Amino acid sequence: MSHNISENVLNWYDKFGRKDLPWKVDDPYKIWISEIMLQQTQVQTVIPYYLKFIKKFPNVKVLSKSSLDDLLLIWSGLGYYNRIKNIHLASQIISKDYNSIFPNSFDEILMLPGIGKTTASAISTFSGFSSRAILDGNVKRILIRLFDINGTYTKSQLDKILWEKSEHITPQKRTSDFIQGLMDIGSIICKRTQPNCKICPLKSCGCLYKPSSQKKKYIKKPIIKIMSILTVIINDNSQIYLEKITTGKLWLGLFSSPNFSSENSKNNWMSNNNLSHINVKYESSFTHRVTNKIYNFNVEFYFLKNNKNVSLSTKNWYNLSDINVGVPKYLEKALTIYRSEYEKDNV
Ligand code: SF4
Repeated sequence: MSHNISENVLNWYDKFGRKDLPWKVDDPYKIWISEIMLQQTQVQTVIPYYLKFIKKFPNVKVLSKSSLDDLLLIWSGLGYYNRIKNIHLASQIISKDYNSIFPNSFDEILMLPGIGKTTASAISTFSGFSSRAILDGNVKRILIRLFDINGTYTKSQLDKILWEKSEHITPQKRTSDFIQGLMDIGSIICKRTQPNCKICPLKSCGCLYKPSSQKKKYIKKPIIKIMSILTVIINDNSQIYLEKITTGKLWLGLFSSPNFSSENSKNNWMSNNNLSHINVKYESSFTHRVTNKIYNFNVEFYFLKNNKNVSLSTKNWYNLSDINVGVPKYLEKALTIYRSEYEKDNV
């Protein structure tokens, strides 16, 4: 079966595989950046971020000299900000321990922060240093369906079984094309919902997929709802007041309008900064989902006259048309609302 699988995947890859992706190069630095961006993010979303990133930071040397704030700015909107914090940390290590040359052994790559077994395998295989199997989300889904793996396992037991399967079907020749082909089949054909088995090259390999036996497999985490009051303050010079986020893990280090969990804490902050006398100009609301957490944002937009005597720091104002610090996606959503309301009022 494994011979058929590799032959069918490679034949399919030759005809339909995504060979023109911008990170299809043999530079491990560029492959590393793309692989980290592709964790939890779709190819089409990643492409513009990747191109911008590589233009600004073409190699480890330039990257290692940049500040985390610069990196958070360019990563802004891509989410899962721990990824860029680890890239920053890894670039310092590569600069210090490897003279700014990306390491070329699987074991050394695996030691870098933010890089697990599958990412290290992909980087070293795509760069031509080794021929290794991978196990990303797409490949896991294919293997579970292909071999009808549906017992009750802990995560580590299931991963062990799937790594064995993945290593078993991965050929030693054209490994790079094979793993790219497998990932492409996972994202284009063997999708999470409604796999398109009719056009799948694995169907004739005896794929054991039975929709009914796998429906119960995915245990969803309970949804957590979080209320937030986002206080967007804009002055006469079209500048927005932003503070660096210093708590929590999700958006740590980015800049945001002040965000409160209750009306009381917002009122206290407004009063402490001499802002109590300012009226809300617009109000709106939206939801923002991050994995199993749903944030319900109530957004209050305030316009601040320059002659008002308030206690907000003069250093925290950023031009609305060109915010030069990293901001979370939820703030971009709030600013889209602001622009449409503001433009409605000013036509
Ligand atoms: S035949 Fe269907 S279930 Fe099996 S790998 Fe292909 S798309 Fe997925």
